[in-house]
Amino acid sequence: MSINKVSTIQPGTIKPGAIQPGVIKQLDDALINQIAAGEVIERPASLLKELLENSIDAGASAINIQIERGGLKRIAVIDNGFGIAAEQLELSVSRHATSKLSSVEDLFNVSTLGFRGEALPSIAAVSRCQIRSTTANQQGAWGIVVDGGKINHKPKPVALDEGTEVIIEDLFYNTPARRKFLRTEKTELKACEKVIRRMLLVNPRIEFRVNVDGRETMHAAAAYGQHEAAIKLKRLSQVCGKPFSEQVIEINEDGQNMSLSGWIALPTFSRSQRDMQYFYVNERAINDVSVSHAIRRAYSDVLYHGRHPAFVLFLKIAAAMVDVNVHPAKSEVRFREPRSVHDFVYRSLHRAIAAIDPEQGETGLPLANRLISGAGHGASWGSESSQRNIKMLVKDQISAYENLSRIGSGIGQTGITQDSNAAINEGANSYRIEPQESAEIPPLGYAIAQLKGIYILAENKDGLVVVDMHAAHERITYEGLKATMGQHGDSVVPLLVPLQINLSQTEVAVVESFQRFLYDAGFEISLLGEESIVVRSVPELLQKSDTENLVRDVISDLLEFGSSDRVIDSQHEVLSSVACHGSVRANRKLESAEMNALLRQMEEVERSGQCNHGRPTWMSVSLQELDKWFMRGR
Ligand code: ADP
Ligand code: MG
Repeated sequence: MSINKVSTIQPGTIKPGAIQPGVIKQLDDALINQIAAGEVIERPASLLKELLENSIDAGASAINIQIERGGLKRIAVIDNGFGIAAEQLELSVSRHATSKLSSVEDLFNVSTLGFRGEALPSIAAVSRCQIRSTTANQQGAWGIVVDGGKINHKPKPVALDEGTEVIIEDLFYNTPARRKFLRTEKTELKACEKVIRRMLLVNPRIEFRVNVDGRETMHAAAAYGQHEAAIKLKRLSQVCGKPFSEQVIEINEDGQNMSLSGWIALPTFSRSQRDMQYFYVNERAINDVSVSHAIRRAYSDVLYHGRHPAFVLFLKIAAAMVDVNVHPAKSEVRFREPRSVHDFVYRSLHRAIAAIDPEQGETGLPLANRLISGAGHGASWGSESSQRNIKMLVKDQISAYENLSRIGSGIGQTGITQDSNAAINEGANSYRIEPQESAEIPPLGYAIAQLKGIYILAENKDGLVVVDMHAAHERITYEGLKATMGQHGDSVVPLLVPLQINLSQTEVAVVESFQRFLYDAGFEISLLGEESIVVRSVPELLQKSDTENLVRDVISDLLEFGSSDRVIDSQHEVLSSVACHGSVRANRKLESAEMNALLRQMEEVERSGQCNHGRPTWMSVSLQELDKWFMRGR
């Protein structure tokens, strides 16, 4: 092709001022900043994030956020940090000006949230911006006004007692094309609130006030001193809601070069969306594919297909092991050893989740939980049962804290009792590690009855245990299937009479493409034509089920899964639904020996505190709790 033909511009057709091909010129600063703003400032929420980061970097202990009309009209962030000196105000809005970095080496040892020196200039380029500030060694406060990137005047004296106040109005007023990309005020406000939630969780020592359209919508107290832990939990509950904060396990793991802390929800508290997932690396909220994968894997055995775990996790890692300068909005990082981060996160969570089992349900929880639930109050069976010990912890700590120092709004005054204070104090002083009893009575005790064909009632050392038969059996079957997957030895039972099943052509095709998987799982099946198959063996664990129905159910699951790749990827999910189909249904009468066998199996199976669907498998009520129900003083 001839190059000449490509150009359609003829000499003499270019209008004055229009772009001339081949003529390179330096862009002016205002335009450079507007272009840069495209990367950093996408919407009100992104500028709010930058302003908050600046306040946090300035060591603020209290931050006030004001949002008007979804942030489209106005966003103000007021802090009590160390401020900007008058003579530095203009510099703060000029490009690549930062007080946080001076050499390339610093870039690999960043301890502040900001370091690129481009947030303020980018924001100021696409809005009307006012900055007022004062510092400890300066008389009075000074301010500047920047309109669309142009500084209106030299710093002027303003009224301000401490810290910094940044007010951003009319975002994108001078770049109407970008304004069109903004969503409704409501949606933009939601995005701002998301940013605020992220900041609140990771900065418990900073007091936050949030004001939306003139109304205070959030006041989060700073977590300090004696009640620090309780205030932190209260903040967790303010940000993620009470149900979450009442069903969490605390994580505290140390590894080589890194540590992980925070909270993860019990599998019984799962979400239909990934909307309650907070992961921080060195106090910076980030998205990371491999970390997400590690967390999903840790939960894969206990969460039902399509459900998502909820968590708030803080990873601390040596600054040299992570590159934070890989994303303009700083929402991604690059680990030097991604594999070791992945494995550390996976192992920490997997262990914590596996620890929720019958034997540890009572003894494996952090000590405060147990003491608090031991001294529990109220006679409500749901909240007294041992699988909800953690729930008692959070609720009681919060109410105890509120009882002592009444700060803040958001959480009601219900549930305040003298008991809970006593419990916390008692927890602090009187805990001793008791040697494991020479257990004659097994943890889940012995069956005493079956209730409505659904529950097994058992008696153990402490009182009453109630087991959901189906859920428990499902868990046992599932763990067994998982353990024998691919072995195809003793764990498979040949059928005395091979079973022929007539199916549709699609179903037969599914059997054909999953033959390998089915074989590994213990189903030996051959094709008998276009519309029929023969089953020759089933997994031992499922031999008591109705084979034809079982196989039909499994096939219809596989149909849903689609490709065989997906089945291999989600092998555990498939096994868990196989287990579900093959497990004892409700309404089957069990002999006492069968019930006891089930209890013993449950004790053995790891993670049997939760069935595969994330439902609990058993609950217990202690004798003391029963006594309370009947006001029987002891
Ligand atoms: P960066 O945070 O990457 O350094 P910014 O453009 O966000 O870049 O801010 C530029 C500079 O302005 C910061 O380095 C800091 O010195 C100063 N600054 C901005 N906001 C504040 C604030 N709230 N308190 C004190 N200093 C601030
Ligand atoms: Mg910054």
